[in-house]
Amino acid sequence: MGDVVVIGAGIAGIQAALDIAGHGIRVHLIEREPTIGGHMAQLDKTFPTNDCSMCILSPKMVDVSRDPLITIHTCTEVEKIEGETGHFRVTAKKHPRYVDESSCTGCGDCIEVCPVEVYNRFDAGIGVRKAIYKPHPQAVPDIVIRDKEHCIECGLCYDVCGPGSIRHKEDEKEIVLDAASIVFTTGYTVFDARGKPQLGHLLLPDVITSLELERMISAGGPTGGKLKKLSDGQAPKSVLFVQCVGSRDMTAARPYCSCVCCMQAIKNAILIREKHADIDVTICYMDIRSYGKGYEEYYERAKALGVKFLRGMPSDILADRDGMVVQVENSETSELLVLHPGLVVLSVGIGPADDMGRLAERCGIVLEDTGFVRPVHDAVDTVATLRPGIYVAGTAAAPKDIPDSVASGGSAAMRAYIDAIRIRTV
Ligand code: SF4
Ligand code: SF4
Ligand code: SF4
Repeated sequence: MGDVVVIGAGIAGIQAALDIAGHGIRVHLIEREPTIGGHMAQLDKTFPTNDCSMCILSPKMVDVSRDPLITIHTCTEVEKIEGETGHFRVTAKKHPRYVDESSCTGCGDCIEVCPVEVYNRFDAGIGVRKAIYKPHPQAVPDIVIRDKEHCIECGLCYDVCGPGSIRHKEDEKEIVLDAASIVFTTGYTVFDARGKPQLGHLLLPDVITSLELERMISAGGPTGGKLKKLSDGQAPKSVLFVQCVGSRDMTAARPYCSCVCCMQAIKNAILIREKHADIDVTICYMDIRSYGKGYEEYYERAKALGVKFLRGMPSDILADRDGMVVQVENSETSELLVLHPGLVVLSVGIGPADDMGRLAERCGIVLEDTGFVRPVHDAVDTVATLRPGIYVAGTAAAPKDIPDSVASGGSAAMRAYIDAIRIRTV
């Protein structure tokens, strides 16, 4: 009675949970992934300060794990929400981890011996992981998960696990939680660039997405922070960013601006130029949107570092014997240019979480046509949903950068807290 359930443990959900618990209210933080942290854990640095993303996020993740008023439920998905403000009942399904959460120490011995390597979703496709794995080194909880689909049941991990934490079998569990109020922070999914086959993603090895670039330039990523072409492992002589891929695009049913990808490209262009002054960096854009505090100055800094901004969008990316060929018209000069980039980075847009439709239906949440959660009012109440007692924050409501996601997490937390206090004082 009087608890709050936060659904989604990215930066907005983490902020909401910490703020609510900071006011003495018990929180259940539900996350479908095996770790909290969300997409921010995949990013190398943040704009406009170039702070290491994990250096900001990781202490908050640890604070959540240590807060006695916050219970983390990983590998857990919400099935339904019944009731009303003050008296919600949240039913969730906890998927098997095939590892005992209470006894696993996270030592990693099982990972060492596992012979199976599979595609690593955390590294956005440019790295591999084992069949038993930690999502990343700073995962919270700091324990492993066994991927039953790819496990070949060789038994090696069972043999090395001192506490005997690995489970051959484990069933799904139903969790039922009572809550005074609920915060939805279910995050986003990046646009699948295969939806634009003319841009060559997964067809040409040196066309990667902005998320793949983040993992590549991250010191903890699969290349140890080394910028390289996937075709031959060599450093590219030039990098071409293509903006608005899957955003501001009626053909992809995504008419909206994804808000963050201009600044993300500028940030990564700055990082590349600062580290490799010999690499030519060009950003092909429709408009540069640098609307936040310090963002315009950051844009100017990129120009001063020699990043080229080319107003024009390539219609396709082709390859010949010498590499990639990109034709683009400079819409400021009407000049038709033919470029030969070593690496192309597609700045993929932000869409709602991939199961948002199903979740909204089961939870009685109304969505916009775009699939994001509809708030009570787009100008004066952006955190209340149309179902009283349920609030929305972060990119579940609309594309947002990290500062705005954190701020909205705090706003939603305050509203959820007021509901929780009200039920206690009635
Ligand atoms: Fe270590 Fe066992 Fe946990 Fe693997 S399952 S990390 S071996 S305690
Ligand atoms: Fe890896 Fe499965 Fe063998 Fe364990 S039993 S080491 S998870 S393949
Ligand atoms: Fe396009 Fe920039 Fe908007 Fe992203 S932020 S959709 S790249 S205009």
